[in-house]
Amino acid sequence: MKTNEIRRKFIQFFESKQHTYVPSASTIPIGDQTILFTIAGMAQFKSCLTGEEVRPYKRATNAQKCIRVGDLDDVGKDGRHCTMFEMLGSWSFGDYYKKEAIQWAYEFTKSELKLDLSRFWVTVHHTDDEAFDIWKSIGVSENRIVRLGDKDNFWAMGPTGPCGPCSELYLDQGEHVGQCYEKGLKCSGPGCDCDRYLEFWNLVFMQYNRKEDGTLLELPMKSVDTGCGLERLTALLQGKHSNFDIDLFIKIKQKILDTTGIKNTINELSTQQKVNCNVIADHIRMLTFTLGDGAHFSNEGRGYVLRRVLRRAVLQVLKLTPHWPKNKSFLENIVTTVVEEMGEFYPEIIQNKARIEDAIRIEELRFNSTLESGLAKFHSFIEEAKSKNKKVLSGEHVFILHDSFGFPSDLTQILCEEIEFKTDIEGFKKHMQEQKERSRAEAKFYKFDLDDSPWMEFHTPHVEKDKHFAGYNLEFKNQ
Ligand code: ATP
Ligand code: MG
Ligand code: MG
Ligand code: MG
Repeated sequence: MKTNEIRRKFIQFFESKQHTYVPSASTIPIGDQTILFTIAGMAQFKSCLTGEEVRPYKRATNAQKCIRVGDLDDVGKDGRHCTMFEMLGSWSFGDYYKKEAIQWAYEFTKSELKLDLSRFWVTVHHTDDEAFDIWKSIGVSENRIVRLGDKDNFWAMGPTGPCGPCSELYLDQGEHVGQCYEKGLKCSGPGCDCDRYLEFWNLVFMQYNRKEDGTLLELPMKSVDTGCGLERLTALLQGKHSNFDIDLFIKIKQKILDTTGIKNTINELSTQQKVNCNVIADHIRMLTFTLGDGAHFSNEGRGYVLRRVLRRAVLQVLKLTPHWPKNKSFLENIVTTVVEEMGEFYPEIIQNKARIEDAIRIEELRFNSTLESGLAKFHSFIEEAKSKNKKVLSGEHVFILHDSFGFPSDLTQILCEEIEFKTDIEGFKKHMQEQKERSRAEAKFYKFDLDDSPWMEFHTPHVEKDKHFAGYNLEFKNQ
């Protein structure tokens, strides 16, 4: 079954259970200050879950485009985390509760998807006897129901808002799958941070509303919020052990290869080249969707996240195809395939395709213009450290790479990891703080400079050189 069919099947299944289909919300949350990006399907239903808003339906289903920047470091290291992914969801707003939620998730898994139940496991919150008993009553054997603590089985979207205990569905992909196996470690089972037991669906029983001071208030009505990762589900159904090997990503990765001119098929690539392709494919999808929803590159907050993601992707491009011309955008070419594969369900990326491509091209070329000199600088810093018998890149050097060459610190960290170097991130933060203070002081100076007429003389070219010095004295005198 193809990714697009699985998405459709999920939605149709819940529609057959009287759920109303609601289109995906934007990846950029509107009117919610607690998050930078939409991280789960429930984002647009928060007020329905707290009871503040009543809609004409009490059951909903959808496929939500989600962005999880917190998973950025896992991309390329494991097979189950993407920065942008689709969450298939179903909701009850004060209608049905645990019994139906569990029953239907099981029915879909067993009868519609026909996943191999001999590999099926579930988890419940360690205090949730009710969920435990429901799973048992529908035929899941007791030794396949694992009780876990808050870390895995209590779900909240942000510091405040609706939350509650959850129950997760897993499939054991086999003892030879996952990072534990690769490292010769014993996997601890569902909840282990490796790919072997793949969590594909989370059923959250919305029971509480967390207030600013952290207290949990019982919600007036009990609701259900479920989220199932489309890429993970597709991987399971297509017999793949990684999200990046599903049909949709194969198409994107093929386009990446075609663009580089590398003649090998995806299967013939080296492990390192496969990782490069996975990261580029992931990042370009994330950028296509966020830019398509109106985000833009900038030096702060959300825009800076996009900038970091693009720069990480560019670095991977450079590894895959070191001679790619610096005056041509590579990533721009890949947007077409993302749009071809996903535009039917998300027409906004078709409508905004030209804008997305323009933004990516401009940003990539801008970074390319400093990339070579930045890498040369990086290598000279590394040589300097080595000559002092150090295997750490100093905070000052990380800062210079950030400030003068546009290398976000996580990019420098990746480069360092590859040659088994550490980075002094604390030192880097100190330099960043000092820079912030400097620019704050300057901003103050400029403000005074503009607002106060006697100092307007400093705008004349011949005194320009002394501006900062005078400003500094001025600041000082005014304190
Ligand atoms: P994990 O423990 O593997 O990081 P999670 O518990 O953080 O997953 P949930 O918050 O429960 O994930 O989200 C619901 C579902 O969304 C998951 O069961 C999974 O199928 C999917 N999912 C979560 N994060 C990602 C991601 N970064 N990439 C792809 N799918 C994801
Ligand atoms: Mg997670
Ligand atoms: Mg989890
Ligand atoms: Mg989960």
